[in-house]
Amino acid sequence: MSSYFVGHNALFNGDHAVHAENCQHLPAEQYRTYLGEFTNCRPAVQQAMTVYPTANGCFSCCESCHRVFSISA
Ligand SMILES: [Zn+2]
Repeated sequence: MSSYFVGHNALFNGDHAVHAENCQHLPAEQYRTYLGEFTNCRPAVQQAMTVYPTANGCFSCCESCHRVFSISA
C-alpha cells in the first residue's frame, strides 16, 4: 500500500496530477490533498477524480495510470 496525493495546481493541459508519496514530483504539503492508501494508482486516480474531474496519473510515479487527453475545442 502507498499513500497517494493529488496536486492542487493544474498542469498546463488542465490535468491534476496524482502522485505516490515517494514521487520526486510530489507537490509541497500545502499544494496537495491526501487521497488515501491504495495498492496501486488506479483507485487513487478514481478518488482524485471525485475532486478534480481532470485528475491524471503522474507520468513519473503513476505511469500505468497516466493517459494523454485529446484536447477538443
Ligand atoms: Zn508523481
